[in-house]
Amino acid sequence: MPDIYFDCASTTLPEQAVLDTFARVSVEDFANASSTHALGNKAYRMLEKAREQIASYFHLDPSEVIFTSGATEGNNLAIKGVSYHCRSWGRTIVTTKAEHPSVLNVYHELEREGFRTIFLDYDKEGKLDLRQLENVLDEHVSLVSVMAVNNETGYVFDTRKVYDIVHEKSRAKLLVDATQAIGKEDIDTLAYDLLTFSGHKIGGLKGSGALLKRKSVQLDAQILGGGQENGYRSGTSPVPLDCSLATALRLSLRSLPERRENASRLNAFLREGLGTIDEVEILSGKNTTPFILSFALNRHKGSVVQEALSAKGIYVSTKSACSSREEGYSYVIRNAGYPERTARNAIRLSFCGRESIEDGKRFLERLKDVLSTISTEE
Ligand code: PMP
Repeated sequence: MPDIYFDCASTTLPEQAVLDTFARVSVEDFANASSTHALGNKAYRMLEKAREQIASYFHLDPSEVIFTSGATEGNNLAIKGVSYHCRSWGRTIVTTKAEHPSVLNVYHELEREGFRTIFLDYDKEGKLDLRQLENVLDEHVSLVSVMAVNNETGYVFDTRKVYDIVHEKSRAKLLVDATQAIGKEDIDTLAYDLLTFSGHKIGGLKGSGALLKRKSVQLDAQILGGGQENGYRSGTSPVPLDCSLATALRLSLRSLPERRENASRLNAFLREGLGTIDEVEILSGKNTTPFILSFALNRHKGSVVQEALSAKGIYVSTKSACSSREEGYSYVIRNAGYPERTARNAIRLSFCGRESIEDGKRFLERLKDVLSTISTEE
């Protein structure tokens, strides 16, 4: 029986066409895109074609696309880049308590450097406290950072509303971490001045990603060198990776309606099935993407259940994969207002939208098996 992989928010299997693009460009366009001979020019044209393609999906100018190694680098560049650039007048930076560590840890670092940081609250339904946002915005705020979709619970934050408030009440720019939104939500619903995402969450390759930066945003580069990527990210351009990102994005956006419908069906089926297990509490409320379903167990430890499922060929997450090797609980769930025990025993199922209802049935069977055989938490 094949394994069940319900961990697509951690990473996805690359599409064959993405691997083909990577392999082809690696060989046919191996030259350095900065070399000014014919082969270099050809590699440069490939790079610029990929940039144009990505820009067109977001209705941006190609100069507004900066290739990065992924969302972590993009978030670091955007947050430090804007904060340092605006430090003479804007030493307050705002974000939410639900952000990924690649945002939160940069804020903490800047706090140590003397910036004032503000972390916004949200509730169990995934609703951001917009009143709080309105109250903290003033002429000293240079940056607001809000994720579009939370990686642990699937909460969808309304970036359009946030954007309108930020622009009405301050001079600040809005960074949207869209790592879990691209390939899951309609990109035209996102509002932002800067946006980050990673290739490997959408059927692309690890080490690929982009930061989108509108022309109106000024940024200090964080990696200095030969001036590639318009000076914002020096280093020899990984043309095959950048081209593979364009392929991944194209395929992911094209298949979105079908995958979303599938994910919604599976999500509804699993919610119903999980609802019949008395110790389960569903944590993904109304404002969540169908691609992520988070629940907590009242009598079992999340990490023990995860391990037992893994032994049966079922792969799920507790907290986010990036931090789950550490002991503790999910701060995203805790900060929503749940008790520590719930935050410690949360399990996240995340889908690509190609899973079947049959997979869902087998998951529920094996989960019930596991819960009846492993020992309960004291
Ligand atoms: N932001 C969010 C919301 C994420 O889910 C992740 C990946 N877990 C990242 C940022 C970081 O992405 P990467 O590890 O690809 O740099």
